[in-house]
Parts: sequence; structure tokens; C-alpha cells
Amino acid sequence: MKKGDLFVISGPSGVGKTVLCHRLLRQVPGISFSVSYTTRGPRKGESDGIDYHFITQDRFREMASNGEFLEWAEVYGESYGTARSEVLSRLDSGEDILLDIDVHGARQVRRSFPETILIFLLPPSWSVLEARLKGRGTEDPSMLRLRMSKAKSELETVHEYDFAVINTDLPQATEDLKSIVLAQRCRVSRVLEGGSWPLVYGPKLCTSDTKQ
Ligand code: 5GP
Repeated sequence: MKKGDLFVISGPSGVGKTVLCHRLLRQVPGISFSVSYTTRGPRKGESDGIDYHFITQDRFREMASNGEFLEWAEVYGESYGTARSEVLSRLDSGEDILLDIDVHGARQVRRSFPETILIFLLPPSWSVLEARLKGRGTEDPSMLRLRMSKAKSELETVHEYDFAVINTDLPQATEDLKSIVLAQRCRVSRVLEGGSWPLVYGPKLCTSDTKQ
């Protein structure tokens, strides 16, 4: 069976990654989200095991030193990581996986899995990003400044990504993201190696309905 594809979505805080990921996962079967581990505390409305696995610094260090993370990074003074075992087993079973991770994590994943599809979510403008982040009301002023300054350096890495989606309008951005995932599934390599086309013998296509 052909393995699933690994999709990474990155973008500055406040650009709308979480809501866009949820919409994609609701609308496209066969793709699931990898829940990250983090040392930051839960925000209002977040649940352990659903939004993140919330763990202590000691536990995070232990997991990192045991090589349990596919990638991990420090973001805004907290640690975030993707569990290796969860992602690999789901990919092996043919499932597509979506990671919402920062640009440093994306680079690490691409190094380990060069075929990873990297998608960058852009705000329509700088001022819209600032307004969205303020409107979210989850950050104090110093954290807001930190997130805006990190956003600048993140935006500079967009050229390392395969696709960019501009989140001006949520339904349109959702369609754009869905089309990236669905197009990937129509790659010749995936269709043939996955056995979706029944009459493939080695590298050759059989063009009649009976085996020759
Ligand atoms: P937040 O605290 O706002 O949920 O996330 C902060 C940043 O951490 C976001 O840019 C998000 O993409 C990133 N992030 C979340 N999980 C991971 C992870 O497992 N690894 C890495 N490298 N970044 C992550």
C-alpha cells in the first residue's frame, strides 16, 4: 500500500491556521491532524489531547532525549514537538497527515522527509494580521509584540515552501488548501503505486481489461 503524504502548514500567529486546518479536516476524508506536545499552558477552550498534549518541561526534555520527536522547536519561550511514532504509523497505514508547526519545525521535517508538502498561510496584509492578533485577545501586550516580530522573520521564509495560501476569505482559503491536498492524491506516483489503477504490472500499464 502507498504511504500517506505529510502536509505541513506554517504561518504567523493569528493568520488563521487552526480554523483553516479544522475546516480542511472536516471536509476532506483520509487526512488527520497530528496533535503536538507543548510545555505551554492551555488557553481558554483548549483541551488536553485534542488541541495539544500539554506536558511539563521535564517530560518534554525526556521525550526529546529519547528521540521521540520527529521535530521540535522553541516557540515564544515554550517547547513544541511532533511525536515521531504517531506520524510514522499513520503514514504507513496510508493516511495523510497534517502538521501545524512553525518554520523551524518545517525545515526539520523536510530534512527527514524530502517529499513533505510545505504550505505557508499568508495574511492578506500586515495590518490585517496585527488586527486579528489583537482581536483574538489571548496575548498580553509584550507577547503581542513578540508574536508580531516573529511574524516578520517567518514571512521571510515563505520561499522555502511549495505552496502559499492567502487567507483573505476563509471559504476561499479552505478551497485552496483542499485543492492542494486533493491534487497531491492525483499524482501519477500515488495513483499507480497505491494500486488505485488495477491493471498495473511493474512499470507497465496494462491497457486491456484482461491480464496479459
Ligand atoms: P500556539 O501557542 O499559538 O498554539 O502555537 C505557536 C506556534 O507553535 C505556531 O506557529 C504553531 O504552528 C507552532 N507549533 C505548534 N505545534 C508545534 C510543533 O509540534 N512543532 C513546532 N515546531 N511548532 C509547533
